[in-house]
Amino acid sequence: MKGTPSMGKKSKKVTHIKCRRCGRVAFNVAKGYCAACGFGRSKRMRRYKWQNKKWNRVRLD
Ligand SMILES: [Zn+2]
Repeated sequence: MKGTPSMGKKSKKVTHIKCRRCGRVAFNVAKGYCAACGFGRSKRMRRYKWQNKKWNRVRLD
């Protein structure tokens, strides 16, 4: 049974917890860093000019 019915079992282990810096549930427990802001990986905020999202209430570009 692979496919859509198997998706119901996808709540076993916790991969991401709430990040202390950005507040998003994107902090990877195993890797030890945040996928959204890069907390635990770099001192700076993880941001790219291609992502075009509001950061510090100012839109990039
Ligand atoms: Zn974060």
